[in-house]
Amino acid sequence: MRYVFVGCHHVLRNTSMVGSNIQQLRPAVNETTERLQGRDAQDANFSAAKALAEIVRTTLGPRGSDKMLITTDGKVVVTNDGASILDRIAIEHPAASIVAEVAETQADSTKDGTTTAVILTSELLRAADALLEQGLHPTTIADGYRLAAERALEILQKETIEIDPHDTNRLQDVVHTVITGKWEGTDAQFLAELAVETVQAIEHDETIDRRNITRQAVAGGGYRDSEVIDGLAIDLESSSTSVVAPETEFPRQIEDATIALVDDQLTIETVDGLGTVNFDTPEQRQAFLDYEDEVYERYVATIADAGADVVFCQKSIDDPIRYLLAREDILCVERTRKDELIKLGRATGAQYVGTVDQLTSTDTGQAGLVERRSIGNQELAIVADCSDSKQVSILLRGGTKHINEEMKRVLDNCLNILKLAIETREVLPGGGAVEVMLAEDLRKHAEGIGKREQLAIEAFGDALEALPRMLAQNAGMDPIDALIDVRHRQHEGNVTAGLDVLNGEIGDMIATGVLEPLAVKQRAVTTAYEAATMLVRIDDIIAAAPDTDTDEHHEEHDSNTLHTDTGGYPWSIGH
Ligand code: ADP
Ligand code: MG
Repeated sequence: MRYVFVGCHHVLRNTSMVGSNIQQLRPAVNETTERLQGRDAQDANFSAAKALAEIVRTTLGPRGSDKMLITTDGKVVVTNDGASILDRIAIEHPAASIVAEVAETQADSTKDGTTTAVILTSELLRAADALLEQGLHPTTIADGYRLAAERALEILQKETIEIDPHDTNRLQDVVHTVITGKWEGTDAQFLAELAVETVQAIEHDETIDRRNITRQAVAGGGYRDSEVIDGLAIDLESSSTSVVAPETEFPRQIEDATIALVDDQLTIETVDGLGTVNFDTPEQRQAFLDYEDEVYERYVATIADAGADVVFCQKSIDDPIRYLLAREDILCVERTRKDELIKLGRATGAQYVGTVDQLTSTDTGQAGLVERRSIGNQELAIVADCSDSKQVSILLRGGTKHINEEMKRVLDNCLNILKLAIETREVLPGGGAVEVMLAEDLRKHAEGIGKREQLAIEAFGDALEALPRMLAQNAGMDPIDALIDVRHRQHEGNVTAGLDVLNGEIGDMIATGVLEPLAVKQRAVTTAYEAATMLVRIDDIIAAAPDTDTDEHHEEHDSNTLHTDTGGYPWSIGH
């Protein structure tokens, strides 16, 4: 592995370790330059975009290298995920930000293909640069790129291979293509199997509802101890499961459980509503104790009357209440996270109530089995066979916090790709096969155009071919020979010939199982085309006054905003 050091969080411009290309990520206009025009503006923008692509270029493909990111506070992150890198580095240059947004859009929509999209954008700009030098007008280039992108999307659709969404091996191939390089050989296979098992467990009518998947990091054990379990796993770490009095204990296992969800604390409220109580006389003290008992008993009676076997409470539960509930054989879980409560509601059909006093049997939900299980160093409540939706949890084990974070990220990536593959059934051969085919087609297509735009269409093809070139280069293969070889094989009729970079040879991508969802490639082509044409059209960069209207989308994303679709629950579902 080759490590490249990239400064992070504001250190980009200061650090001595970073390459000179980082300098180009600085804004083109600043205190000293107020305006850049014509070629100067284009140059500044293009170099910034290229600089960004240079950073992620060597990570492309299963043989890509890792990057070590060092934050200003000394945290180290080692990753070879393009999106992960671009997320973390500080970018000041506006053009570089536009390209970084390409990555973000790509990551948001498909969770894969980020590096591809960024490299393609940069290659399109590199080609545009040469065309501008030749005297082509930016509008002509943009028009040519549009024609090329349209054509490319058409061809991608046409070349799609249909997969059987129940074919476990094929699904594993697709996930494998996403994660090879991110995780070493057998580890990648392990994660691929875990991801496929997960989505297959909740697949319903060939659709995957990501909300039915819970990921839970569990301390203790090794990476290979990670497992998929049937049901919704709720972390009991912040809930005390022991009961003070020795004669009582919470049930470990409840069949046909009735579930209640309470969005409140089960504690006593002092008479005056304040935290401390002062007594002047023993009678006052006794009166308070009586009041306490009465409230506790009322709480427990309400819960028992509602028929609940398990209560999940968002806040804390007082010891005496826990004791009384245990005596009634009712399991209570305190400090359940809001997102877990929401999931429990969706899964069991329970409505959560604001205070215990409001709880009735109509608010409760059902689960076939609720079980307390100790896994690793952690205790979990597993809520399985839920009445309203099938739930599955992935328990991720082992590793340091940072490995865990990266694992979650990769896993998310896998789950999204599988969702795409299962729901659309459309995949394409990877390993540069599609890019070579598109390039060949675009070159031919350009010949028939007979206008200046044809140069831009050809250039679009060349830009696409830069991807297999980089894949080969990163794998230590000779990029020129590899490209010629792939072109030759495709010319001979094997249109799915591509780079089998793990074996360092040219092979058939269907046979090797290097397959990617169509949507990933479509998205990469579209976002790269959009960003590149936008930057090509810019010929003037002017320093402007700060934009004060930045709160535009605030409301939409505010997790406290109530959303009607969620039955009044805050719209914040954590995966
Ligand atoms: P991105 O961020 O664009 O997804 P990756 O580093 O994941 O970047 O690399 C994706 C590229 O690697 C795709 O073009 C894919 O086809 C290719 N690829 C993945 N696995 C293989 C493989 N085993 N052989 C050849 N190419 C592969
Ligand atoms: Mg990828």
